[in-house]
Amino acid sequence: MYTEVAIIGSGITGALVAHELCSAGIQCSVFDKRSISTGSSAASTAQLQYEIDIPLHQLLEKVSEKTAVVAYRSSLQAINDIEAVFRKTKIKADFERKSSLYLASDKKGCKEIAREFKVRKKYGLPVDMLEKEQLLETYGINRLGALWNDEAAQMDAYKSAVHLLHYHQKKNNLQIYPYTGIIGHSATSTGFDLRTANGFNISCKYLIVAAGYEAGRFLPKKVMDLDVTFALVTEPMRKEQLWHDECLIWETARPYAYLRTTSDHRIIIGGEDINMNNRKLRDDLRPAKTKKLEAALKSLFPQLEAKTEMSWCGTFSKTRDGLPYIGTYPGYGNMFFALGYGGNGITFSMIAAQIIRNRIKGIKDEREQVFGFERK
Ligand SMILES: Cc1cc2nc3c(=O)[nH]c(=O)nc-3n(C[C@H](O)[C@H](O)[C@H](O)COP(=O)(O)OP(=O)(O)OC[C@H]3O[C@@H](n4cnc5c(N)ncnc54)[C@H](O)[C@@H]3O)c2cc1C
Repeated sequence: MYTEVAIIGSGITGALVAHELCSAGIQCSVFDKRSISTGSSAASTAQLQYEIDIPLHQLLEKVSEKTAVVAYRSSLQAINDIEAVFRKTKIKADFERKSSLYLASDKKGCKEIAREFKVRKKYGLPVDMLEKEQLLETYGINRLGALWNDEAAQMDAYKSAVHLLHYHQKKNNLQIYPYTGIIGHSATSTGFDLRTANGFNISCKYLIVAAGYEAGRFLPKKVMDLDVTFALVTEPMRKEQLWHDECLIWETARPYAYLRTTSDHRIIIGGEDINMNNRKLRDDLRPAKTKKLEAALKSLFPQLEAKTEMSWCGTFSKTRDGLPYIGTYPGYGNMFFALGYGGNGITFSMIAAQIIRNRIKGIKDEREQVFGFERK
């Protein structure tokens, strides 16, 4: 078969790429080795924050000022852009605007948020500082301080991806092939030939790898490390038991705990990340990690009587500088990578989708250098 664009991966990244391309009138097909969107996106707690895993003051020490600042600003813009996607398509994927609270976990964290506050202000990013007393009074949280902003959101990443793909399947004839693993690819004079695990051949002009933490096989060198993160969801609670504003919460400790509520008044808390790539060990660790997350929730909100309904874990990949890799690998022609890496990876998925659409349309995008493989 022939398709103009072949997208490998039907998670939130593949779905947003398909959305941008279909909306621009580009014909594409999505291939996934599993059922639709059942990789990391199905496990994701989907807190959408402009803050990425590496605080801006630390990112500024790792990459150039321009790269760090454009990365943060692009992430901020991506939340608006994701909202616009759901507004335009009228897809209901539990997208909700939220505020975000970044807690100082300890005295060291207190110094860190002071430094972070300064640089975010300097570069015009939305941020306020909450002192200990304010934090206790407003949120009932006993920590030394926090950064706050009201530019965050939350959604259901699985629903978002599945509904977006089906929307374009109906509207723009997007072709979707679940249970179709791509096990080989080769460059041709007109694009690429792909081989599937069930013995089919596909030709395409453009190839897009949105294969999440399993994208390594398509790259000539290792650019990412794999982490496992654990999460639980409580039984529904009464709305008045939950904290003020039901904002997103995370913290300066690494690994950090992250939490949010759901539209039916449950709490989702995640964290306890470890660096590993071993499915069995990962699953064996889950009961102990669930207990730790329960203790973390109790320590934040001692009055709360929360009962765990379900717990799970999932893998995600991260890079050394905390930024994703988006764009072509040098010498790889029209093969694009959309690797929305990190524990806060979904805003990167949106950015990847726009950069790739622009590239195919021949539109210059300054973010290509910031997130490209050749960045310094
Ligand atoms: C528990 C958990 C909590 C998280 N919380 C947050 C959060 O709060 N906020 C946030 O922004 N991010 C969060 N993340 C990260 C975020 O979920 C990921 O960045 C995002 O889901 C990645 O989406 P993706 O589409 O790139 O990858 P995936 O969803 O993993 O999709 C990749 C797809 O590619 C397919 N695939 C792989 N190889 C092949 C192949 N060879 N052929 C065909 N198909 C293939 C897979 O089957 C899969 O469906 C979390 C992650 C986890 C695990």
